[in-house]
Formats: sequence, structure tokens, C-alpha cells
Amino acid sequence: MTTITRPAGTVSVRVPAKINLQLSVGPLRADGYHDVVTVYHAVALFDEITVSAADRTSVEVTGEGVASVPLGPTNLAVKAAAALAKATGRRSRSVSGGSSGRGSSVGSSGRGAAGGSGRSSFRGSSAGGSGGSSPRGSTAVKIEIRKRIPVAAGLAGGSADAAATLVACNELWRTGLSPSELAEIAANLGSDVPFALAGGTAVGLGRGEQLTTALAAGSYDWVLAFGATGLATPDVYAACDRLRAARKSGDGVPAATPPELSTELMAALRTGDPAEVGPLLSNDLQPAALSLQPLLRRALAAGKEHGALGAVVSGSGPTCAFLASDADAASELAVGITGAGVCRAVVQVTGPAPGACLVDSGIAT
Ligand code: ATP
Repeated sequence: MTTITRPAGTVSVRVPAKINLQLSVGPLRADGYHDVVTVYHAVALFDEITVSAADRTSVEVTGEGVASVPLGPTNLAVKAAAALAKATGRRSRSVSGGSSGRGSSVGSSGRGAAGGSGRSSFRGSSAGGSGGSSPRGSTAVKIEIRKRIPVAAGLAGGSADAAATLVACNELWRTGLSPSELAEIAANLGSDVPFALAGGTAVGLGRGEQLTTALAAGSYDWVLAFGATGLATPDVYAACDRLRAARKSGDGVPAATPPELSTELMAALRTGDPAEVGPLLSNDLQPAALSLQPLLRRALAAGKEHGALGAVVSGSGPTCAFLASDADAASELAVGITGAGVCRAVVQVTGPAPGACLVDSGIAT
């Protein structure tokens, strides 16, 4: 038997990607945001975060898309650790300042300069303090992020890392916040962060952060097709607004209406039958994503040709999610989509997956 030994004061948390089974987007609000109604679904594609007590804060990222992950204080995992520290009254330690790369080099913007997959790291300014599990000690923490969730892919990978860091630091620092207290901090970090904590299948209102668990039966087999390049969420919302404005002035199409939950989709989810769910997948951001990456149209068509029960762009894209009737059909679908040459890579995953959860803790009890 192999025994994995973690150093004392080390906590690892696994956190899933999300797709959106429904994403309805309301009109642009005066404050620049949009109200949404969404049905989140967590899938078994996980990032893993390991945190440990350190003399100064550092972030190290390995795996999928590391070159696009910020390594300084704007990394959502760093923000999450700082938010938890602030909320629980631990001494705050700055993570701004210079960075020195370990592994691949770190650019002046704080982003790694490596290729699509590899290793990048950031070390913040030196900070004293013992860290570890002392009740009100230092907030300096070493954060290691192993990414499997592609970046800027509509899968909320950054939000997932934030959620995982909240859970990990809550354990490392023994701050003892309840799930609902963590969810409150999560909502301030980003719209998708509370769902990454919760997992499963859930309805999101407001900016998506007001969650209600959905009554969903069964499990679902999905194929995810990843785009060659990412899409920035603000760009996709802006394209959505432009398309809607053009329709309004050009052809009398009514303005975007307040979003509503699809009762048909909710009923289908209660049956647990993928054949019922597939045709009801919907995303108001899909036309905008297609306008920015026209190849996605071919990806969606390829999935349908190879037997997908439903095909939809996830969130702001460019990942396309295809629903299959079972695991064997998903395997065939994955082969068909790969053969069509319309995406960078495909993975086969199941959903719903659990939210951020502890996989390993070297904390003595
Ligand atoms: P959104 O959550 O805005 O819809 P997304 O799911 O499409 O976005 P993410 O992978 O969350 O995409 O990345 C969005 C941006 O967040 C990236 O471009 C990146 O610069 C930034 N980011 C900050 N921290 C992280 C992180 N830990 N992992 C990935 N991206 C991060």
C-alpha cells in the first residue's frame, strides 16, 4: 500500500468546473451589469489547490493554460485568501510587489510567460509571522494551483480556484466559518464563486450568486470541447449588447426582457432523462460567442451530427458542452468531435459533481 505523506500544515482541496444548462441574460443595467437567471451544473473536471503556511505569500500554477493565469494579487485564489483573512480578523499581509519566477519566467505584468501548459509562480513581498494553524496568525500562505480547467473558457476555473482557496484556508487557519459564511465571502469575490463551493445543480439569480439547489435526478454524461483560444467574459457580454441593439434598431425585435427560469428545463431535470434535458439547453450569450469565434458554429454542428442530445456554449464560451445518452455514447461523441477537427481538445465528464471539498489535510487534529 502506498502512503502519501503531506507536510504538517498543508491542505488540499478539489473543486469542479461548471457548465450552464440555462443562461438567460437580462438587459444591460445602468450600473453596467446584467441580471441573469442560470442553471449551473458542476462537472467532474477538477482543479486542485494546496495551501500551506509560509513566510510570505506565493502562488504557483501548473497545468492547463498557466500562461493566462495572473500570478500576483489579482489571482482569484490570492484574493480569496485575503478576503477570508479580512473577514476573520487575521492580520493582513500585502501580496503586491515584485515577483521572482520559479519554473518558467514571470513577466512584468505578473503573468507567467510560459506556453499553454507548464509552470509559473509568484512570490509576494516578504512577510513575517508564523502562519500555520495559530488562531490569529499571519495570512502568508503558499498557494499551489494544479489546473485542469481551461482558462477563460466559460467554465469558471478562476472562480473555482477562489472557492477552493476559501475552503482550504478555512481549514489551514482553523477559522471555522460555516458553509453559509464562506458563501457570503464567495459572493463578494465573484458571481460564480458561491456555486463552486456548492457544486451539484443549482439555480443562480441576481448576478448568478443567489443560489437555490435544483431538484435534479440522475447523472449525465457530457463531452466538453475546448476552444483554441479563450474568450473574455466582458467582451462576450459587450457583443451580446451590440447584437441586441442592432436587432432593436434594425428589425423591430423587442429589447431583451427580464430573464426567467425555464420551467420545462426544471421539469426535465427532475426526470433524470438526458433525452428530455438535451433539447432544452440554452444560452443567451451563445450568439455573441459565435460572433466572436465563428468556428464554434461548426463545433456545435459536429456534436449534433455525432449524436449529441443537446449542444450549447457554456457560459461566455468558448467551451461547447454536448450531452450524451450514456457513457458509451459520450465516448463515441468524443471521437466524432475530435475527428471533425473543430476544437483544441475534448474531454468526457459526468455531472453533477460535488463542490469544493477537502481531499487531504496535513493539519494535526
Ligand atoms: P468568468 O468566470 O469570468 O466567466 P471564465 O470561466 O470564462 O470566466 P476563468 O478561467 O475563470 O474564465 O478566467 C477568467 C480570467 O480570470 C482569466 O482570464 C484570468 O486572467 C483571471 N484569473 C484570475 N485568477 C485565476 C485563476 N486562479 N485561474 C484562472 N484564471 C484566473
